[in-house]
Amino acid sequence: MSLDLRWGARTDTGLRRARNEDAYLAEPPVFAVADGMGGHARGDVAAAMVVEALRTLLDADGLDAAPIQRAVVLDEVRNADQAIHRAGNQPAEAGMGTTVCGLVPMLEEVPPSALVFNVGDSRVYLHRDDTLRQVSRDHSVVQELLDAGRIDAAEAELHPQRNVVTRSLGSGEPLDIDWWSLDLRPGDRWLLCSDGLVKEVGPDRIADLLRSEVAAQQAADRLVQLALDGGGRDNITVVVVDVSGAVPHPAADLDAGTNPRRAPVATQPRNDRQPQPLARSLEQEAPASP
Ligand code: MG
Repeated sequence: MSLDLRWGARTDTGLRRARNEDAYLAEPPVFAVADGMGGHARGDVAAAMVVEALRTLLDADGLDAAPIQRAVVLDEVRNADQAIHRAGNQPAEAGMGTTVCGLVPMLEEVPPSALVFNVGDSRVYLHRDDTLRQVSRDHSVVQELLDAGRIDAAEAELHPQRNVVTRSLGSGEPLDIDWWSLDLRPGDRWLLCSDGLVKEVGPDRIADLLRSEVAAQQAADRLVQLALDGGGRDNITVVVVDVSGAVPHPAADLDAGTNPRRAPVATQPRNDRQPQPLARSLEQEAPASP
């Protein structure tokens, strides 16, 4: 007996934005959400670039496909970062970037595991044992203020810099990917989403929806509808992945640590770096440089 995956995905421009700059990939075993941003507003290009880079992990030969290695996944994210940065040097695409979050179930591992990664404020959640847990941590100004105890959750929702991320792909900064290797269990329901969902729908309502017995696609559809009903101020993208089946040797408890592992990447030491916040919303973007 082994684990099976069922999944569903939906993206929507929302009610306020002229264009959908989110992108997603939902082709097992690679699931990802990207939320683009840009000076001249080609965030859609940047988001599509990282999704296409991750799509190259899918083996066209199917049954003979070798298991995907963690390092290869993270390398694709780094390649996309470089490619977006290069493309962003073209005047027409100046300053474009994107977030990315991803889930790569590794069903052939014993015990089965999942690679989770993120850059920016697109999120990965896990609904397990009737509890919703945010696995990824936002790389955002507001998250840093929360971590420092300078604002509380209520202030975070209204904070003028709530759309500003501190890490993104394409920035030209050394890339720092947060990633986790977590166990995978039957009954797990994973959620990947852009901030357009969590701006409009609180965690309790998300948990209620995920707790319902609806199929993954229906769950994705309903979550997007909740965000639209909530105002739809941003693009909304949702990917839901359900794990079913059984494992012969149950896994140990989910890694309780909240600190992400750092991807082993040859860059400058962390303390050499100054995060460069990027404007996330069209209304907050600085004028494009000449
Ligand atoms: Mg967004």
